[in-house]
Amino acid sequence: MGETQQRATLPADGIVGIDIGGTKISGLVVDAADGLVRGSVPAPAGVGGWAMADAAADLARDLALRAGVPFVAVGVGAAGVIDHETGTVRAASATFVDWAGFPLGDELHARLGVPVSVENDVNAFLLGEVAGTESVEQDVLGVMLGTGVGGAVMIGGALRHGPNGAAGEIGHTPGYSELVCTCGQRGHLETLASGTSIGLRYEARTGTAGLGAREIALLARGGDADAVAVFDAAGRALALACASAATLLDLPRAIVGGGVAHAWDLLEPAIMRTLVTDAPVSGLPLLITPATQGADAVALGAIEAVRRSLEPVGAYR
Ligand SMILES: [Zn+2]
Repeated sequence: MGETQQRATLPADGIVGIDIGGTKISGLVVDAADGLVRGSVPAPAGVGGWAMADAAADLARDLALRAGVPFVAVGVGAAGVIDHETGTVRAASATFVDWAGFPLGDELHARLGVPVSVENDVNAFLLGEVAGTESVEQDVLGVMLGTGVGGAVMIGGALRHGPNGAAGEIGHTPGYSELVCTCGQRGHLETLASGTSIGLRYEARTGTAGLGAREIALLARGGDADAVAVFDAAGRALALACASAATLLDLPRAIVGGGVAHAWDLLEPAIMRTLVTDAPVSGLPLLITPATQGADAVALGAIEAVRRSLEPVGAYR
């Protein structure tokens, strides 16, 4: 992943993209020579929303300065359920102190004095993948296989947010196992396909605890049958979830990112098998492909979101 980027040309329009996660805040901006200027700082998620806003604002200002472009706007992709119209965090993981309810958009605007757009990070990921890649479909499912499993849906080129900003949460759809999910319910896609779950499933099979998805992937490539089986179960569950979404919404493609997607070689056999046995009944082909924009996707999508918000109404479908 990241080796086969076909990045569309991005304008140096002074829009800074910021990716706010639980451990780091990273960002990028296009400079006058069409290069990407990147930076990151640790995320003070355990301190509080104010500290996160301070850190993100400082990073955005610094990136624009380093790129030598006028600082005209900032787009943010942030962890949590986001009200994208107000830029307020509606709900968030308990590991983020004072994040749920935090008016991130307003606080960044107050610090920076430029237009601000805030999206959920997985929505921004999908927007970044589609905007940053030449000739990709405009009806797409995005799935992020990270610590948890996030999802996003784009229909006709526009993100589907839903009335509560929670559309696309495919990680917490049921029916894939009997295991308890991080959310407390049972059987969700996340119980098989997240990085955390891959470690737990491997532990359940072998008794070896504490390994991450990356280490288990190395074991699988070395011929460890339990490691192979864990990725196989993840790939099958992922493909079933993608096929369900594609059947419901007529989506020709699912783009899969996040750390676990680095083990695409281990997920792909089960994905391909499942697409044969459980293809959408429409008979139309569903492509499930790994993300191509690497670690930049969320910030690129955040830039695209603010660019769209600054366009005249109706410029996008
Ligand atoms: Zn769940």
